[in-house]
Amino acid sequence: MDADDTLRPRFVVQIHDARRMHFDFRLEVDGVLKSWAVPRGPSENPSDRRLAVPTEDHPLEYREFEGVIPHGEYGSGTVIVWDQGTYRPLSHDRQGVAVPFDESLALGHATFWLHGAKLHGEFALTRFRVGDEENGVGQEAWLLIKANDRLAVRDRPGSPDPYHARSARTGRTLHQVTAAARGVDG
Ligand code: MN
Repeated sequence: MDADDTLRPRFVVQIHDARRMHFDFRLEVDGVLKSWAVPRGPSENPSDRRLAVPTEDHPLEYREFEGVIPHGEYGSGTVIVWDQGTYRPLSHDRQGVAVPFDESLALGHATFWLHGAKLHGEFALTRFRVGDEENGVGQEAWLLIKANDRLAVRDRPGSPDPYHARSARTGRTLHQVTAAARGVDG
């Protein structure tokens, strides 16, 4: 960690073994964690286009959460921090002028460089469907795609198997976190 790391916005990717297994991709923006549920997880392979469905903003402290959300609560199931780190906003307009990151998200296309324990390099989040559930248009939907940069993976699948993936914080699998919580509960 260099001194700059404390100034850069954070990101976290949690694996959430809820009713449906998914990854939660979260970027710190203006004091909250902007969040997307990514069913198949982020991929380091630029040929993978990963569906990312916006979910509610989370408080910054949630980036450290790893454990079991009790049965009966919203999102019940086990969570591990699969990756964590900082990011550098890269969004710019067609003239190459930098666009504030929150503005780029509002416009539906944001690019950023991840400095994670696992994920590295440029990624883009692009909105392809503007949701309007009341009018039957469905949920807002985005794609999370790795840029074709020098850090891209091309010769193998770019996403982890959530059942075998390990926490970037504690090295534990979902199974181990679940078992540890059961131990405490008796
Ligand atoms: Mn979740």
